[in-house]
Parts: sequence; structure tokens; C-alpha cells
Amino acid sequence: MSFQLPSLPYAFNALEPHIDARTMEIHHGKHHQAYVNNLNAAIAGTDAEKLTIEQICANISKYSTAVRNNGGGHYNHSLFWTIMAPNAGGNPSGKLAEAINSAFGSFDDFKTKFNQAAATRFGSGWAWLIKNAAGKLEVCSTPNQDNPLMDIAEVKGSPLLGLDVWEHAYYLHYQNRRPDYCNAFWNVVNWNEVAKRFEK
Ligand code: MN
Repeated sequence: MSFQLPSLPYAFNALEPHIDARTMEIHHGKHHQAYVNNLNAAIAGTDAEKLTIEQICANISKYSTAVRNNGGGHYNHSLFWTIMAPNAGGNPSGKLAEAINSAFGSFDDFKTKFNQAAATRFGSGWAWLIKNAAGKLEVCSTPNQDNPLMDIAEVKGSPLLGLDVWEHAYYLHYQNRRPDYCNAFWNVVNWNEVAKRFEK
């Protein structure tokens, strides 16, 4: 079995004006596709072909750098497309909102902390909201295509929300203004999907 590029659950231009169509088209069709192709090439003929991407991430220290970079890239982008949606944004509700308030004080405090993690990740990487093993929410960031599922991650947990802060995710529209991209992201967060992940 080989990994496949998941289809984007909305049109390339659906997240405009916050994320532009050209960026989405290249990001999904070129960058994510390349991670999938390179992951498949790196695991061809090995036992990893029988595993899920989550299982591969959980034992990533046993694999090559190519599997780490491209397996992470595949997992991270697959999550990223689903936690965004057109006509989304706003505030989380229900149990997720309660957990955010309990962990960070308020939704605004959470957003500040998340934006800070995204803005201060040097070079390329991701900012995350995760549920840790104790069921508590935490904000963290990872370099390159690492993620909090990986056994090598500094802070581990199940990703609920992730923001790609590689320049390829924002440079066409935002150039060097990463903080503007991070602020715009809140307008397209699919809180229904984040809540589903939290309650799992
Ligand atoms: Mn990316």
C-alpha cells in the first residue's frame, strides 16, 4: 500500500482573502504531493508500507531522515487542510472552549500564545495545539516537518490544530510578514474539526 495525496476539501480560492488560491494550489498540489511521493519512495519494500502514518510518526527515531521529513510532511499537511475551512473562524465552543479557557486563561490568551509559538519558530516549522497524555491542552512548535506525535518531539501529544509556518505557506501573499499570516489564520480555523479531534 502506498500513501496518497488527500483531495483538498474545498476549492483553492475558498480561503481567500486570508490564504490565496495560488499558494493553496502549489502548497497542496506540489509541496504535499512531493512529501507523499518521497515518503512512498523511502518506505518502498519495507515493513513501514503496512503501517499508518500515525504509527510511523510514533516510532520515527527508527527511520531514515527521508521518512522523518516526508512522513511528517504528509501527516502535517493532511491535518492542515482539514482544520481550515471557508466561512470558518470565530470562537470554539463546548468542551473544547472550556478546555482552552482552563489551560490558557481565555481564548485570547491562547491565541497570543499560539501566535507567539508560530512567530518565534526560527526558520521552517509548525505551531501546534495538542492534547497531551494527561488530557491537558498545550501549545508548542516543532522544526521542519517534525510533529508532536513523533517519539523525538520535545513536547508530545495529539495534534488538534497545526499552523504551517514554512515560507512556502505564505510568502506569495505575505512575503516576510509571518505575523500577518498567523493573524489571518484565525479567520479560517475549522473549530468543528478541532473539537472533533479533541473529543476523540
Ligand atoms: Mn507546507
